[in-house]
Amino acid sequence: MQAYVDPDVCIGCGLCASAVPEVFQMNDDGKAEATAEGADDAVKQAIDDCPVSAIREAD
Ligand code: SF4
Repeated sequence: MQAYVDPDVCIGCGLCASAVPEVFQMNDDGKAEATAEGADDAVKQAIDDCPVSAIREAD
């Protein structure tokens, strides 16, 4: 599954990048970016766990 992080919503808490580093990385703006596809379960968990609901499945 490919995820998308809305940079206007992400607060840069780092949770997704810590939990699923193969998918999410923190960029120079301190926001998360989805840089690769990941296992469905891991991406869905990150979507559920993001405290501000900034992550969704990419179109
Ligand atoms: S868990 Fe949500 S708020 Fe935290 S870095 Fe990831 S996308 Fe941003």
